[in-house]
Amino acid sequence: MIITLRKGTKQKEITAVTEKVKGLGYKPHVSRGEDITIIGMIGDSAEKYKEVFEAMDVVEHVNEIQKPYKLASREFKRENTVVRVSRNVEIGGKKIHVMAGPCAIESRDLMNDTGKIVKEAGGTILRGGAFKPRSSPYAFQGLGEEGLKYMEAVGEKLHMPTISEAMTVEQVELLSKYCDIIQIGARNMQNYDLLKAAGRQKKPVLLKRGMAATVKELLLSAEYILSQGNYDVMLCERGIRTFEDSTRFTMDLNAVPVLKKFSHLPVILDPSHGIGIREHVGTMAKASIAVGADGIIIEVHPRPEEALSDGPQSLLPEQFRNLMKELNLVAKAVGRELLD
Ligand code: PEP
Ligand code: MN
Repeated sequence: MIITLRKGTKQKEITAVTEKVKGLGYKPHVSRGEDITIIGMIGDSAEKYKEVFEAMDVVEHVNEIQKPYKLASREFKRENTVVRVSRNVEIGGKKIHVMAGPCAIESRDLMNDTGKIVKEAGGTILRGGAFKPRSSPYAFQGLGEEGLKYMEAVGEKLHMPTISEAMTVEQVELLSKYCDIIQIGARNMQNYDLLKAAGRQKKPVLLKRGMAATVKELLLSAEYILSQGNYDVMLCERGIRTFEDSTRFTMDLNAVPVLKKFSHLPVILDPSHGIGIREHVGTMAKASIAVGADGIIIEVHPRPEEALSDGPQSLLPEQFRNLMKELNLVAKAVGRELLD
């Protein structure tokens, strides 16, 4: 249920409403827009208290949220959410952000070299996996905390925020010390304990869509994070499994306008995993921006043939540099900005 307050409400009045919500055993979720404040009262049978709030002077109106996801819905918040990452990076506004780097943090040198390439080409966030969800238990599993230290040092040196994936609750805690954005991977989109842990800490979260998950399920997973009080959530389309086997996954570009309609959260696209073929990653990156992405996440490796993970879909430095220039043109064509 959403409680919309009258224009120009004072903090004292907002507190009176949130206290009432708490008194009834619910958690209030406050969203302050330009001139109106709305309070989400989410939980089982919240609607039965509709009249209690309608009777309050400060309340303009009370509406039920029809969608099963509440805080993630456009009904709860009309304006787009802008996620504030460290180092003045804001995702969800006019500027499109490019997160790039190797699939896995393989060594200190790799992070140094790739960080420089990404930064010089105009990428704004450095990616690198320290804990890798590999299909085979014999494949490289990541360097763990040691890798996080390498990436943190490069982020510090280049003044770039960093992103890395957490697969367990303990890793969420560890990552929140070293990284600026916590990634929840496709294979863990419905790991509800993990989602709750990501919601209990303060760092922004990039939530990837499960390869067999619907848009609605993605939004319900985002709801888990939001309901714990972390409102800095970004949704990521990274390709779904279909009958098509000429590409690694099928990038569901349809999901972008649909997610934008249903939710206020920023949408990030991952063309690297989405198509999985280096030659075509750039094309899908351009399509991602044309279709309305707020950012893209892309794999880059100086020597993809030696990569310990996802080499075949990693862009070469030169390809990445050229792509950034092309992406800048597409961004302009759709009224966005990319390079400064
Ligand atoms: C990754 O970003 O390297 C990754 C494993 O992504 P996904 O969870 O989308 O497969
Ligand atoms: Mn990868």
